[in-house]
Amino acid sequence: MTDTTVRFGLLVSMFQAMLRDRTAAKKRKRFRTFLDRVYTGREYFSAVRLILPGLDRERGTYGLKESTLATCLVEALGLAKDSPDAIRLVNWRKGGSRSGANAGNFALVSAEVLQRRQGMVSGGLTIRELNDMLDQLATKENRGEKAAVLSSLIKKTNALEMKWIVMIILKDLKLGLSEKSIFHEFHPDAEDLFNVTCDLKLVCEKLKDHTQRQKKQDIEVGKPVRPQLAMRVSDATTAWKKLSGKNVVVECKFDGDRIQIHKNGEEIHFFSRNFLDHAEYAHGMSNLIQQNVLVERCILDGEMLVWDTCAQCFADFGSNQEIAKAAREGLESDRQVKRYVVFDILYVGDTSVIHQSLMERHSLMRKVVKPLKGRLEILVPNGGINDHRPSGEPCWSAVAYSVEEVERFFKDTIENRDEGIVVKDLGSKWEPSDRSGKWMKLKPDYIHAASDLDVLIIGGYFGSGRRGGEVSQFLLGLADHSDPASYPKRFISFCRVGSGLSDEELNALVAKLNPYFRKNEYPKRAPRCYEVTNNSKERPDVWIESPDKSVILSITSDIRTVKSEVFAAPYSLRFPRISRVRYDKPWHECLDVQSFVELVQSSNGN
Ligand code: ATP
Repeated sequence: MTDTTVRFGLLVSMFQAMLRDRTAAKKRKRFRTFLDRVYTGREYFSAVRLILPGLDRERGTYGLKESTLATCLVEALGLAKDSPDAIRLVNWRKGGSRSGANAGNFALVSAEVLQRRQGMVSGGLTIRELNDMLDQLATKENRGEKAAVLSSLIKKTNALEMKWIVMIILKDLKLGLSEKSIFHEFHPDAEDLFNVTCDLKLVCEKLKDHTQRQKKQDIEVGKPVRPQLAMRVSDATTAWKKLSGKNVVVECKFDGDRIQIHKNGEEIHFFSRNFLDHAEYAHGMSNLIQQNVLVERCILDGEMLVWDTCAQCFADFGSNQEIAKAAREGLESDRQVKRYVVFDILYVGDTSVIHQSLMERHSLMRKVVKPLKGRLEILVPNGGINDHRPSGEPCWSAVAYSVEEVERFFKDTIENRDEGIVVKDLGSKWEPSDRSGKWMKLKPDYIHAASDLDVLIIGGYFGSGRRGGEVSQFLLGLADHSDPASYPKRFISFCRVGSGLSDEELNALVAKLNPYFRKNEYPKRAPRCYEVTNNSKERPDVWIESPDKSVILSITSDIRTVKSEVFAAPYSLRFPRISRVRYDKPWHECLDVQSFVELVQSSNGN
């Protein structure tokens, strides 16, 4: 049976119902019912790609972020550029409705406009038709052509359906159901298969029958693999205990882009963590790989860095994006050179080697990669931390024989201004998407409560004088990560911070957050996603409307943490200062209360 007849409206009904469901279990059940009753016997991929649009690599990118999508919709709806609805769409950050309630949520603002234009009657668009039209949207080059496709979509849908299509185009459905749960409900082996292929179509085709288990598939050259991840630990002792009795290697944690290099003869791919192929890295790097990787086929895992030849150090975060842009424009800065540090190898010749131990993979790395200083390096230990090495030669990898050695390596690495260390079990295999503790990362944020903590802005306080009426201080929150399978849903107020940023940095931050500030109307309670006390010092002037609109700040504090009665978290910081704004870190990676409490307790014990 094909999917020509299933209406997109049925999928929309499922989405709407999922929004009302309070538990993940209910949402999952709804998805199963959809697959069994509505979609049974059909090509699952055609529907699943609409449910997990961020994982669909079949049709390339639409080239439509909110702002371009807004102008295309204005054209598709035939709106005059200066009409109120056109202005609403283009200024979506400021909000559509008079109350501004939808501000910053493009899908809701567009739904509001579409409702006035489209009404409730569906044109009967089928899932098949929608996929065909989305294919067209992705292939069209210019805005006018894209607008024409959107216009045909509008004719075949109602406002509600169109709202979901907008969310599919923006690749974020906000269903409150994690990708992991969707995979598990689809088929018990779906996540495993996706992890080693990053191919949603293949997963849907191979795992049609959810009662039939599949043999685990191994990795292949040319297909990106989801990376082995590192577990956060708060101190060297925890890491050492977890790896008790194991052979341990400590490595410097380089701060660049995680890139998997797949070499298949002449063909070379540079896959990032979200399995995009970054062709811009090929410039200057492909030749190097051809010449210095001594096998026809292999997969390397490592960090792509930008080396500043003048300062003889790694360039600051952000330079990678700059260099990528320069490479796209055909320019390569002579000052900055791309440098790839190989810390693992996953495939050699015709065989996957992820099942071999890290120690065995290190010897393969030595055989396969001919290092070239400053350009292509391998991170393999040349003995222990105390072993002699030529003076001035930095030590980026060493075998550790005691917890004291791990601590010393960590201290030396931090003094060298590197990001932290990774502690690895030398006997472990490499497992896609695993964060169970084969690798552990130790960063200064997690070791002393008096150093950097990455926490989320949840509210703002107006300043006085020069900054009167403008936000100049922030209320910060820690994540309540009670369900690690999904993004944090609650944030616990933690401390108030005002200093550390230059005027320029503060202005840029406030401008970014402005559309999401909501006035704190007393005696109204805080938004439900925030947990606060009743203390008046804690009441900010504005709240951030939802955590996913917010930004993470790195906070330092000279003085130890103090027990808190003012804030909802059990401890706060005295004299906190903003050390930097983490635009690069997604909101959900905010430090969580549990880790923070552990960290305070362990540093108080020292
Ligand atoms: P973070 O923000 O701490 O980098 P992350 O979520 O991007 O975390 P994790 O798996 O938690 O990724 O931490 C390990 C990351 O550290 C890797 O993804 C990789 O990009 C980077 N890294 C740098 N040096 C190493 C190394 N020697 N071994 C493993 N990973 C390393």
